[in-house]
Amino acid sequence: LMAVNMVERSFPVGGSTLHVLKGIQMDIKPRQLVMLKGRSGSGKTTLLNCLGGLDTPSKGEIWFNGLPFSKMSDDERTLVRRREMGFIFQAFALMPLLSAYENVELSLRMAGKPRSEWKKRVEECLELVGLAKRMHHRPFELSGGEQQRVAIAKSIAHRPILLLADEPTAELDTAMSAQIMSVFQNIIETENVSICMTTHDPTIMEVADHVYEMVDGKFI
Ligand code: ATP
Repeated sequence: LMAVNMVERSFPVGGSTLHVLKGIQMDIKPRQLVMLKGRSGSGKTTLLNCLGGLDTPSKGEIWFNGLPFSKMSDDERTLVRRREMGFIFQAFALMPLLSAYENVELSLRMAGKPRSEWKKRVEECLELVGLAKRMHHRPFELSGGEQQRVAIAKSIAHRPILLLADEPTAELDTAMSAQIMSVFQNIIETENVSICMTTHDPTIMEVADHVYEMVDGKFI
């Protein structure tokens, strides 16, 4: 689904160049759960930004779904990203005044899906993350784990094929983190997505198909 070939990313800092990614090589296959681990500052977020097309490599290439993702124009890449990818962040990124239902609906509206399909799909996604009974609650009426599950429902509503998540369990305790991981496993099965996420938590790495450990911009 995604192939990362000798990717480097550097930033000009002051008069010199900071090399953050140094020849990254990785694959994400269909329906795989891939994790990136590594110390703070090792380059995980920079890599995730490149995988998601929010940033582009200085060297090397990223192929996504048969397309030369990293070499496309910014407009083309944005289009592919909006259509085929979903994003989940550490802090749940929900609209505070909207209910769980309205939050998920918003992402279908943004993706330009026909209005006639919204209700069924919103209900389906909230069901998938186990929140059918909390549909009309607003974020402040939900626990951290439930809010993150709404964020997951929101990220899959438009049927992406790849989900990228930056420390999706960082704010959650062990039990809630485990719940999020079983939701991930569930949506891989039912929605046919692949997931690439960063984490510091060794207990959840057990459920990964593959763990890449990054040290100083390289995988070891
Ligand atoms: P954390 O686990 O704390 O999120 P990380 O592994 O995700 O860390 P990155 O955020 O990818 O690490 O940062 C790696 C290094 O690249 C850091 O030293 C950071 O300061 C540097 N860096 C990232 N983005 C830029 C930028 N736009 N300009 C200059 N330096 C950058």
